[in-house]
Amino acid sequence: MDVSELLDDLNDKQREAVAAPLSNMLVLAGAGSGKTRVLVHRIAWLMQVENIAPYSILAVTFTNKAAREMRGRIEKVMGRPLNTMWIGTFHGLAHRLLRAHYAEANLPENFQILDSDDQYRLIRRILKAMNLDEKHWAPRQIQWYINGNKDEGLRPQHIETHGDHTQQKMRDIYAAYQEACDRSGLVDFAELLLRAHELWVKNPDVLAHYQRRFRAVLVDEFQDTNNIQYAWLRLLCSHDNNIMIVGDDDQSIYGWRGANVDNIQHFLKDFNGATTIRLEQNYRSTATILKAANTVIDNNQGRLGKELWTDGDDGEPISIYAGFNDLDEARFIVSQISDWHNQGNQLKEVAILYRNNAQSRVLEEALLHQSLPYRIYGGLRFFERQEIKDALGYMRLVNHAHDDAAFERVVNTPSRGLGERTLATIREQARMQDCSMWQASLQLLQDGGLKGRAANALTSFIDLINQLAGEFDTLPLEEQANKAINHSGLYAMYQAEKGEKAQARLENLEELVTACKQFVIPEEADEMTPLQAFLAHASLEAGETQASGDQDAVQMMTIHTAKGLEFPLVFIAGVEEGMFPSQMTNDEPGRMEEERRLCYVGMTRAMKKLYMTYAEMRRVYGQEKYHTASRFLREIPTECVEEIRLTSTVSRPVPSRFSNAASHERMEQSGFTLGQRVKHRKFGEGVVLNYEGSGDHARVQVNFDEFGSKWLVLSFAKLEAL
Ligand code: ATP
Ligand code: MG
Repeated sequence: MDVSELLDDLNDKQREAVAAPLSNMLVLAGAGSGKTRVLVHRIAWLMQVENIAPYSILAVTFTNKAAREMRGRIEKVMGRPLNTMWIGTFHGLAHRLLRAHYAEANLPENFQILDSDDQYRLIRRILKAMNLDEKHWAPRQIQWYINGNKDEGLRPQHIETHGDHTQQKMRDIYAAYQEACDRSGLVDFAELLLRAHELWVKNPDVLAHYQRRFRAVLVDEFQDTNNIQYAWLRLLCSHDNNIMIVGDDDQSIYGWRGANVDNIQHFLKDFNGATTIRLEQNYRSTATILKAANTVIDNNQGRLGKELWTDGDDGEPISIYAGFNDLDEARFIVSQISDWHNQGNQLKEVAILYRNNAQSRVLEEALLHQSLPYRIYGGLRFFERQEIKDALGYMRLVNHAHDDAAFERVVNTPSRGLGERTLATIREQARMQDCSMWQASLQLLQDGGLKGRAANALTSFIDLINQLAGEFDTLPLEEQANKAINHSGLYAMYQAEKGEKAQARLENLEELVTACKQFVIPEEADEMTPLQAFLAHASLEAGETQASGDQDAVQMMTIHTAKGLEFPLVFIAGVEEGMFPSQMTNDEPGRMEEERRLCYVGMTRAMKKLYMTYAEMRRVYGQEKYHTASRFLREIPTECVEEIRLTSTVSRPVPSRFSNAASHERMEQSGFTLGQRVKHRKFGEGVVLNYEGSGDHARVQVNFDEFGSKWLVLSFAKLEAL
């Protein structure tokens, strides 16, 4: 592609940003205005016009998936592979740096990434070792505390406790946790960022190298950077290199995890001569969707303020559906998707978005029922499943015997008769000798600190790992996985468990071998062994995708995960008070506005058609909860909305919108409730879906298991409650 073509598909403002002279720049604009497109074209422009080598470009994206897509798009524009360009998430890039400079970062060469589940387990073990009761020292809270401090760049010695006993204790736990990590060569997610920052602070020559190397730095989704990421960028770009950031303050949705939207404003004063370019035309959504989203977000205070318009069509109204419960909501969504599919459209153009991962289960069941394939992003994380982590535990231990988290995970899985007492002895030895559990085990076996059955069991475990290590060297990765799964006895263990769950676990273990076979070592990992590269990949990508083929499938994910993406047809489920905005919102100031931004992000994912649904009754943690429609639904202008009822489509005036209270009351008089299971003489069993009329004319709609949905006159039907 030549230079003029690079600017062809851009509007004036976009062109201005893409073709700007080298300088520090902020592109601030609302959803779907082409920020990511500008970033991609800018990178191509830098290479073609400014003659900057791919080697000198660093781009930061929010997910690994986005990184892959961005690389693909730039390579397409440029017509050649660009392996030397660094594109990745902050975590991915930090990891890459630490691998390249492990010694300067004070890490062992084969350090391992500790994912959040492992981190949680490690914290629990630390609490136990410190004799602290989990009731008072909730592990989740400690985890939160540790990561929060790391996100702010704080080590235990930096934390001011003001003599407060609780604070001191928390700090001690953090310190003990960090010691344990350092001893085992484990690096948690927050630590990746903090260490990468410290690496540069403590090694000016290393920093200088990267400052000279990366002449252009580009960051997408900047509104969600946290303080340590910001500090890292500042260090990198304090030379005569340039940085372009793109972002949208209205899409800042990770404040709860330490992201700091104020960084956008800090940027303008912290980075030399930074200028702002605003994009105002939206290319993604219909005018209706855009107007609705803009009106909702307008309820937030203190926005940086942006105009957003489109010259596209009004399109269809936003459909709002009130299900009487979550099953009904799911059934409705799936029926709409079926219609869409039957009209010859692709399933992968459809996204179901929700606030919480837990909402996916009911939706999945409804999809399965209709045999509609789906794919879940996040939530059901392949690499975080128990059996996969067990298998990876063996592979990790072979890679690095001093990985205590892996040791703890698999030393007695499957059971080798190593009891809690033996493990406590090993932990104690490790603490006294300040060594790993692996070393402690060797010592204990050598000087007779363990005897009898325990000693035999431990010896056979150590032999197993050594044997695997000996074999791994010459085997391809998938064979390594295969060996780890089979020789460890894991496969046999799950085989012995009966039932569907165990079957699924076996399939997952097989899928792991397939994943190893398909694994291509990424460019940035070329100095690692295949095993190391795969283990890093498993930790860094854990939350993003479920391993599965490229089948045409409905896309399911939380709204958080959907950031930056777009789909022709979008459903947002569970748009009710207590779910979205979430229950927790009331407790913390600012959280309501963040929820509203999340709603804005969700709505602006839709290109052509948006459905927002809610359930008047929902089972949450096994309890029935009655919810009302979300305030966000009320904030949408009436003219943008169409309400859908079970029987017909009606637009109702504002005051009665989103309320089914009256029909609930009438329903109760009939002796049945919505969602109740009933039996009919002829049609068999079914679920009550709807109700209308009263007295002799009262009719009820029942969805029969065998005969489908039917309206019956109550006084004739002789329904039996089940
Ligand atoms: P978000 O805030 O959600 O990340 P964004 O600002 O990054 O959105 P993009 O994803 O870059 O927006 O663009 C949104 C859609 O508009 C994409 O499909 C993109 O290809 C299209 N688009 C962007 N600019 C133009 C343009 N000038 N002409 C036509 N289509 C465009
Ligand atoms: Mg984008």
